[in-house]
Amino acid sequence: MLSFDNNDIALLRQKLGEESPIVILSHINADGDAVGSLLGVRQLISSHSGTPTYCILPNGCPENFNFLPGSEHILSADNEREHCRQLIADAPLIVCVDMNNAARVDFLADDINDAKGCKVLIDHHHNPDRDLFDLIFSFPELSSACELVYWLFRSLWGNEAFDRDSATCLYSGICTDTGSFAYSNDQPSLYMAASNLVAFDINPADIHNQLLNNFSIARMQFFGYAITNCLKIFEDKHFAYFTLPLDIQRKFGVIPADMEGLVNYTLMMRDITVGALIREEEKRCKVSLRSKYGFDVNIFAQRHLNGGGHTKAAGATSKLSLAQTAQLIEQKLIEELS
Ligand code: 5GP
Ligand code: MN
Repeated sequence: MLSFDNNDIALLRQKLGEESPIVILSHINADGDAVGSLLGVRQLISSHSGTPTYCILPNGCPENFNFLPGSEHILSADNEREHCRQLIADAPLIVCVDMNNAARVDFLADDINDAKGCKVLIDHHHNPDRDLFDLIFSFPELSSACELVYWLFRSLWGNEAFDRDSATCLYSGICTDTGSFAYSNDQPSLYMAASNLVAFDINPADIHNQLLNNFSIARMQFFGYAITNCLKIFEDKHFAYFTLPLDIQRKFGVIPADMEGLVNYTLMMRDITVGALIREEEKRCKVSLRSKYGFDVNIFAQRHLNGGGHTKAAGATSKLSLAQTAQLIEQKLIEELS
């Protein structure tokens, strides 16, 4: 069981007990850990004290997470920008999950920087912005924000604070960030959290199907095309990367959420230890980086792309063209893997 600073726990308990309403926020292009921890915290608060909460994601909840209990309550700042800005400005308590700095909420960065309420961080990324947050629960060694939420709220309110809905949300986020217990899996605490969550009568097989066996035909066909045509493999350097031009994405009718998981195909090849995916957007490129042994993609992303993340999974946003971004990554990987 994870231990926390007693003063931090007491302060969070007090804030959650006194402040209302509570805004809960996570990062743009939310993944399962972001949505799971956002909704897990929402459900924990709502069943414990009933304090009103507002869950905000910069560009909403990806459709494939609509099965998570409470997803219908998520506000998309893209669609309700002024409303969300006002909520952030007015909230006496803002809880940020699965993000480490204001840039992760994209166009809401100024709003969170300027917000006067107490800002709490619950996160597992490196380098949390210590100037931004008033109270920080940062555990980069943990598998997921969802695992951290589990241990934190257990310390706050005990095991009885959880129910089937919060357990479903948290277990789903753990599955996403660990690749269904395939990576970031060296801490026994992960399995203890998962085991305790399963005890709340959740359905792991159903969750697995919702998360992994629930994609469109277009996505499958796009993956086939991308693996055949958009993957460059450097067998002797042990890395491979995808470049996904915007016109190809449009041709197949896929959206960013559909491309989640494609980067992992690089690491399925025996001798490939580092993989990247560069996805062209309207005015920038999104980069995903993965590794399966020692190579630290978090450091690589920070050093060359002003990005970040974790040792084995990191990302960045590039203002260079698709070809230039690819060239930069290719050259730096050749240098660093030689
Ligand atoms: P993904 O490749 O799945 O988008 O992201 C993998 C990890 O990298 C995530 O845990 C996320 O925190 C981090 N990440 C993704 N994009 C960015 C980015 O633009 N900036 C930073 N600092 N981290 C990112
Ligand atoms: Mn996460």
